[in-house]
Amino acid sequence: MEKLVVLGAGESGVGTAILGKQKGYNVFVSDKGTIAKKYKKVLLNNNISFEEGNHTEAKIFEADIVMKSPGIPDAISLIIALRKKEIPVISEIEFASKYTNGVIVGITGSNGKTTTTMLVNHILKKGNFNVSMGGNIGDSFAQQVAEKNVENYVLELSSFQLDGIETFAPHIAIITNITPDHLDRYDYKFENYISSKFRITKNQTAHDFLIYDYDDEVISSWLKNNKVNATLVPFSLKNELEQGVYLKDNNIIIKYKTTYKIMGISTLALKGKHNTKNAMAAAMAASLLKVRKKTIRESLEDFEGVEHRLEQVLKINGVQYINDSKATNVNATFYALDSMQSPTVWIVGGVDKGNDYLDLMPLVREKVKAIICLGIDNQKIVQTFYNVVDLVVETVGAEEAVKVAYKIAEKGDSVLLSPACASFDLFENYEDRGNKFKQAVREL
Ligand code: ADP
Repeated sequence: MEKLVVLGAGESGVGTAILGKQKGYNVFVSDKGTIAKKYKKVLLNNNISFEEGNHTEAKIFEADIVMKSPGIPDAISLIIALRKKEIPVISEIEFASKYTNGVIVGITGSNGKTTTTMLVNHILKKGNFNVSMGGNIGDSFAQQVAEKNVENYVLELSSFQLDGIETFAPHIAIITNITPDHLDRYDYKFENYISSKFRITKNQTAHDFLIYDYDDEVISSWLKNNKVNATLVPFSLKNELEQGVYLKDNNIIIKYKTTYKIMGISTLALKGKHNTKNAMAAAMAASLLKVRKKTIRESLEDFEGVEHRLEQVLKINGVQYINDSKATNVNATFYALDSMQSPTVWIVGGVDKGNDYLDLMPLVREKVKAIICLGIDNQKIVQTFYNVVDLVVETVGAEEAVKVAYKIAEKGDSVLLSPACASFDLFENYEDRGNKFKQAVREL
């Protein structure tokens, strides 16, 4: 019996363990931390042996194959030792893809992965496809392959998940955009992070497709210098393309073999330029899978949005409160500010990941009437913006931030939580930050 060792007992690790067991592997799960109760229960119920609080090397080195969870860096000594011993170390995505013939739409990028994944899933569902969504979102891909092998998978893929692939080849790949993120895991080299994103296309053939943002200079310049086998179908807000999706007179046009109009952008359910791009990418993917354009249009009109992404919370005294807690980097916040149509009280801050706020300056000048810092160390934000915005206030909790915003905002204004930073200084995660913000708004 071949031995599969799973490192990390989170969503992807436990999913892999279940699938591995089902496929006849002798499975051992090892987690250096404590394993969450819900996952421990699954392992026990499935009779899968595991350890926590330690990685017992002797046992791990017996593996024929190792699946490493995306949260574990490549640079730790255990992984280096495994590689030295030439024991294959792969990701859950690689492992699971071997056991399904389903058509895969794989979505990566620095921002917009979840939104685009949900859009594609929504369109395919409405088109009566037998489809399931997974990867970095919801149930792991591996667990789904084990439990309900469907005909189509829409997978959100992080760069960490792509780092561990060897043969994985989505029929349709989408790269939403590439801006610097997670550089701590890439030797602080942007080019390493870019290559990691492009791994999504490495095993594609000319029968497969790569959908990407034509206007993104990082992507275009990589494509100029590197060969890709997949058929290229870019999307663009700015240029009429020879092949791909573009805007003409505010209509989304798809040009692939034939040319046709999908819809006007004014009826898209999700607002903001970034969401128009996400919608274009999703429409292209659905169109390549032969979904009818009426279904694509209706789906993009009735999509309900994703929590913590420019989520409209409440309107109080004519002031709209918006939760964009998932904006954990400057690029996401750029699009949030860009989409604001009224004077904005902007709640920003948290754990800075080496942010450069310069890109935001013109938008802040144009739209932001006050800044409320929500973080433990707000020095950089205060110093960057105190000359640009009349009022900069520091707060250390969602409730306090919302109360201050309530005092400042006037009828017709918006209060936008779009932090451009990670949340770990004051919150458990971005969901916790968004939920506390919404709670505080509801209690006003
Ligand atoms: P991801 O899964 O890649 O983190 P999400 O869809 O969860 O992406 O969105 C994360 C943040 O980025 C949100 O604040 C959202 O409003 C913003 N965003 C969504 N799509 C894009 C895009 N195409 N470009 C830039 N920012 C985006």
